Amino acid sequence: MNLSRSLCRFVSVTRQQKGQNLLLKGFQLSTAMARESSSLHKDVPEDEFLKEALKIVMEEAVQNGTDRNQKVCDWVEPEELKRRLDFKLRHEGESQDVLLGYCRDIIRLSVKTGHPRFFNQLFSGLDRHTLTGRIITEALNTSQYTYEVAPVFVLMEDEVLRTMRSFIGWKTGDGIFCPGGSISNMYAMNVARFQRFPECKEKGMNALPRLVVFTSQESHYSVQKGAAFLGIGTDNVILVDTNDRWKIMPEDLEHKIQKVKDKGSVPFLVSATCGTTVFGAFDPLEGIAEVCERHGLWLHVDAAWGGSALLSSRHRHLLKGIERADSVTWNPHKLLGVGLQCSAFLLRDTTQILEQCHAAKATYLFQTDKFYSLEYDTGDKSIQCGRRVDCLKLWLMWKALGSKGLERRVDKVLEHTRYLVEEMKKRKGFQLVMEPEFVNLCFWYIPPSLRNQENSPDFWTRLEKVAPVVKERMMKKGSMMVGYQPHGSRVNFFRQIVVNPEVTKEDLDFFLDETERLSEDL
Ligand SMILES: *Cc1c(COP(=O)(O)O)cnc(C)c1O
Repeated sequence: MNLSRSLCRFVSVTRQQKGQNLLLKGFQLSTAMARESSSLHKDVPEDEFLKEALKIVMEEAVQNGTDRNQKVCDWVEPEELKRRLDFKLRHEGESQDVLLGYCRDIIRLSVKTGHPRFFNQLFSGLDRHTLTGRIITEALNTSQYTYEVAPVFVLMEDEVLRTMRSFIGWKTGDGIFCPGGSISNMYAMNVARFQRFPECKEKGMNALPRLVVFTSQESHYSVQKGAAFLGIGTDNVILVDTNDRWKIMPEDLEHKIQKVKDKGSVPFLVSATCGTTVFGAFDPLEGIAEVCERHGLWLHVDAAWGGSALLSSRHRHLLKGIERADSVTWNPHKLLGVGLQCSAFLLRDTTQILEQCHAAKATYLFQTDKFYSLEYDTGDKSIQCGRRVDCLKLWLMWKALGSKGLERRVDKVLEHTRYLVEEMKKRKGFQLVMEPEFVNLCFWYIPPSLRNQENSPDFWTRLEKVAPVVKERMMKKGSMMVGYQPHGSRVNFFRQIVVNPEVTKEDLDFFLDETERLSEDL
């Protein structure tokens, strides 16, 4: 900033002093610049601010934010929150002390997703290595498109993606980090369409027959969003039936593909799920792959949630057959707790289809006469221009724990789920929606006043009201957070997710006790 200020001053000084000795002017400029640049390191007042702000981050977000004795959230009604935090942007800037106060308040008034009693989402925890990676990423503020601007991260992304692919069972292939699993799934849809109809890139959907995608009703809603976004249309997403464990039935897939073909439409993609969002179900990949191979369809596996089970020799059987997929979505920001966002889109392809599908060959970034090998400019594989560095936080954690440490984490998460299931069976009031296959533990809590009344006509309508009230109570108390939802004909049930590696058995017992405490008078 100071340098550019002295440049501006130079320009205006030059204008004023027209006709004066040029040499002298040059001298004045260089000493002025030298003086300002040598003082850069000492005198930037914002450096003090940053140091103080980082102290607040360490204290409030990292230490208090993960402390069991502190609240998970400090619930405030929106109108009250507007009064508590001065959101208003003004003409005049505000003092550093006031700003530091805002920083503290922002953290205090936010939900602590790293808290050991935050069970609300498919992500939680605050791994210190990934946080360090995130801080470095932010400080360097680079863009992952060319070797020229991101030399370290181009090579690092390549290594991280290669290692992830090796857990799928692929020795070669391609991939890219995307802004989340939803976008990774959309990449799959676009690449699958391009593979079948490369002319789509230039001619658009008008040049194509009616295209059809297959997935199950349990799949993530991003499949629908992707179909809408890519001009395929949500009417052309056909939902395949699932069995009583919420898994795709390959016979129904076969049947529905045939029906679509008979009508003259073109099926091109099956999006199977490993770890569905609500129940954590794993589709039978072997059976689905058979059908896809028979009909020449692209098999995409959305393993955003379940992909991390590949790291565990005990649990990787859940994804049996995944090596037969054409592409895979895997979100380390979920079960591995890497921090939003970290989502890999991985392909078995070795023909550069990802780049061909998306490349626009912008000449100001991807010059073809560069002084280094162009294979290191990976940015044209992306639909973005500037792209965040998402690999460092995962790489640093992987370096710290090794694959072995990551495997232990995955195993521990599943042990915790098992523990909760066994404890729930010992206690009155907890009723499983189903035996969990993965981490998703879906259950109803039946308060004392409703027990043994399953046959009464209004049982389910009364039970439906329990979860929202319990949720309101836990948030206003700030004691824990867990999500609930209705699903099909099933009334509101809780979905308990334990992925934070800091969670202990005591936290799990607390969760069970607290659920009882919050519901006993209902
Ligand atoms: C979470 C999830 C997604 C979406 O991932 P985002 O990173 O939140 O966009 C997609 N598929 C499944 C199965 C998921 O659980």
